[in-house]
Amino acid sequence: MNCYIYWDENTKEGVIIDPGAYEDFEKEEILNYIKSNGIDIKLILLTHGHIDHIMGNKWAVDAFGVPVLMHKDDLPLIDRAMDQAAMFGVQFPKPPAPDKFIDERDIIKVSGNEFKIIHTPGHSPGSICFVDEKEKVIFGGDTVFRGSVGRTDLWMGDMDVLLDSIQNKIFKYPDDFTIYPGHMEETTIGEEKEFNPFLDFPS
Ligand SMILES: [Zn+2]
Repeated sequence: MNCYIYWDENTKEGVIIDPGAYEDFEKEEILNYIKSNGIDIKLILLTHGHIDHIMGNKWAVDAFGVPVLMHKDDLPLIDRAMDQAAMFGVQFPKPPAPDKFIDERDIIKVSGNEFKIIHTPGHSPGSICFVDEKEKVIFGGDTVFRGSVGRTDLWMGDMDVLLDSIQNKIFKYPDDFTIYPGHMEETTIGEEKEFNPFLDFPS
């Protein structure tokens, strides 16, 4: 999965989105990137509560001592992280409880930059995307991928709800917005509107 460090080159302040680090070398790579760029991590943001995205939460909280923010509808996934781990046959330290729940009314501000939040359920009930409108960037979690969409066979997954989230929330943004998804490479709204086979979007 993709863990993102999003930071301001002028102020050096930034956030970690989805600290899914599992192996030690992954944690070291993240840490080295943050240290070598002198980044001051202010928050940990979760797009959703699936284990591949939260396996490194305990490590990240211990390393940076900053609050974890997420949508409340995915709290059952955090509470049952150890059951998720058993289901997928992996072991990792129990993720700490989130410090704050966030939803569409909230705006996340870090050193003069702003994230708007869109609630995009379907892959999980509490899936959210973080949108920096000024930079035209969307951190989409596991909603829409390049040429694909998030799976909906896990707890509370729903394909109709997911497609509605993508078409009526994410695709409301202009074509030149870049999507940084939870898996695979980046894409744009325009590309997915045109080429994504899951989304029959009139052009
Ligand atoms: Zn997921």
